Amino acid sequence: MAEKRDYYEVLGVSKTASADEIKSAYRKLAMKWHPDRNPDNPEAKAKFQEASEAYEVLSNPEKRQRYDQFGHQGVNFGPGGFDFGRDFSHFQDVDLSEILGSFFGGGGGGFSFGDLFGGGRRRRAADPNAPQPGADMTMEMEIDFEEAVFGSERTMNITVPDQCPDCHGTGAASGSQRVTCPTCHGHGVVIGGSGFFQVRQTCPTCGGGGTVVEHPCRKCNGSGQVRTPRTITLRIPKGVDTGSRLRLTGKGAGGLRGGAPGNLYVVLNVRDSDVFEREDVDLFVTVPISPVLAALGGSVDIPTPDGIATVSLPAGTPNGKQLRLRGKGMPDLRGGPVGDLVARIVFEVPTRLTGKQRGALEELAKTLDPGNFPEARAFGDRLKTFYNRRDKLKKNA
Ligand SMILES: [Zn+2]
Ligand SMILES: [Zn+2]
Repeated sequence: MAEKRDYYEVLGVSKTASADEIKSAYRKLAMKWHPDRNPDNPEAKAKFQEASEAYEVLSNPEKRQRYDQFGHQGVNFGPGGFDFGRDFSHFQDVDLSEILGSFFGGGGGGFSFGDLFGGGRRRRAADPNAPQPGADMTMEMEIDFEEAVFGSERTMNITVPDQCPDCHGTGAASGSQRVTCPTCHGHGVVIGGSGFFQVRQTCPTCGGGGTVVEHPCRKCNGSGQVRTPRTITLRIPKGVDTGSRLRLTGKGAGGLRGGAPGNLYVVLNVRDSDVFEREDVDLFVTVPISPVLAALGGSVDIPTPDGIATVSLPAGTPNGKQLRLRGKGMPDLRGGPVGDLVARIVFEVPTRLTGKQRGALEELAKTLDPGNFPEARAFGDRLKTFYNRRDKLKKNA
């Protein structure tokens, strides 16, 4: 390692320099050699580090005194103590504006030196020529219940922003170019305010991109994109439900300057079925039957998505009886087992009886007794208990 230069010599000040002179000398050197202003320049980096190290020592009265007395040894303690000889490369990680801003007592005033230089490395404007990916788009779609059960394919005509065919996405009229923004000179930012306090703003002319179109394309008004009609085929898988979101990769808005297009998301809204009710993958259906069938037993047709399933009912099937048909419900979107179909059997009281039918029922009624109606009998027993308790309370009152 080369011998260290004298700190006063590094900053170019005399041994009797005042604190202000030291500060001013360092500021000049820092502005000249800061890595932000000298990218990929190792010599500048070394000079910047050397000046920063010298400043760190000479700006501190105690360290400066020790340095005056003992030279570099005086400020280069061993392990455990202050190690001023350490690597000063940490200064590189500090924004130029922060180093120089610290001369003015730090923030609070909204001022920072970096603004004057078009920004430190952390705030450099994005490359205006970089590809810009297209936006994702979302649309809603209503589908029939049957499409959710069996899946379907839909063709949609939609309009998405895509590259303007006239200017090929440049936004510039034919024969015209994108040119450096005259307001910000390509920096993408402008310095506003006046005097000492200045603020940095996104350039209003180019929106921060740093370039503007000389003569905007007439078709797209300079945006580079126009609403473009597209025909899209959407495959709806079995088992979708309201809220299901399908992704069509690359079918969203077109990108700019070769950027990838965004995705198109289709959020489904499944219309209710007139036949089935749905709960996740299970389906429910209410099947009306004749009370005679319920009494005598027999076969009943249960609708399932795949077709009619014939089920035999035992004699004396109660009203509201539920039958579960495993695997006859909805397909599972995630590939799980198919849901169940739950059929609820209800019998319907016959209406508009003919005289003959009425006679037959009256004949039937004469033969029926409480033994034919166990539920009615149990209900009668519960009523009896209720009124017995009531009467006991009345007597005691
Ligand atoms: Zn255009
Ligand atoms: Zn601009």
